[in-house]
Amino acid sequence: MARKKFIAGNWKMNTTIEEARSLAKSLVDLAGKIADVDIAVCPPYTNLAAVGEILKGSTIHLGAQDVHWEAKGAYTGKVSTAMLKSVCVEYVIVGHSEQRSYFNETDETVNKKVKATLAAGLLPIICVGETLDERKKGLLHAVVERQVKGAYSGISEADALKTTIAYEPVWAIGTGEVATPTQANEAHIFIRSIVEAIYSKQVAEAVRIQYGGSMKPDNAKDLLALSDVDGGLIGGAALKAPDFLGIIKPA
Ligand code: PEP
Repeated sequence: MARKKFIAGNWKMNTTIEEARSLAKSLVDLAGKIADVDIAVCPPYTNLAAVGEILKGSTIHLGAQDVHWEAKGAYTGKVSTAMLKSVCVEYVIVGHSEQRSYFNETDETVNKKVKATLAAGLLPIICVGETLDERKKGLLHAVVERQVKGAYSGISEADALKTTIAYEPVWAIGTGEVATPTQANEAHIFIRSIVEAIYSKQVAEAVRIQYGGSMKPDNAKDLLALSDVDGGLIGGAALKAPDFLGIIKPA
């Protein structure tokens, strides 16, 4: 099955409002009419509304970097799905390794966030991936299987079809170290087999699996040419419009 490539930029804790506006304007100029690749940017919460305004009328979608699963109330520091929808967010990154390692994200909280996101009509980008230590210990498959099964627990087949998975080997994030094409494709094929085991071949063939971890213009072509790599979740290279374009182009 031909899966449309999906390139998403995770701006992380970068960009003031002025920087975000300027980056979003450059992206609209460079990539705002591209329709044969799905494109999204995920600015920090403070810049979502402003970036959303700039993206209007372009083909670039707006995403958030996280969400809280509760609808409202006494959850200081958190943001709900309704708040994200009110500023035209469509995608939500869930379970990023930085959330898992610094902010106590667990498979259970990832699952709650996936459920809340889907219930609100938003589209989750579910991040999974092993640490270097786990890979060295031969735990890649066990870790990724646990993360994928945890994220999709209680999610219907129809909802699973609305999700994207980002395979992000933790050792490759922000380090300049990239998974080799063989390592990346092998992991993606394995993840697809887990999705098939949970749901069906049809769902597994339809769900897009992005690669994330030091993807740059100079390595994107080889990664994006792989049979099971359906796009990228981009950190550092998403902060410069020409670099982001340099990844969208080969996609
Ligand atoms: C990320 O954090 O999702 C990521 C892939 O970062 P980078 O591209 O900087 O490695």
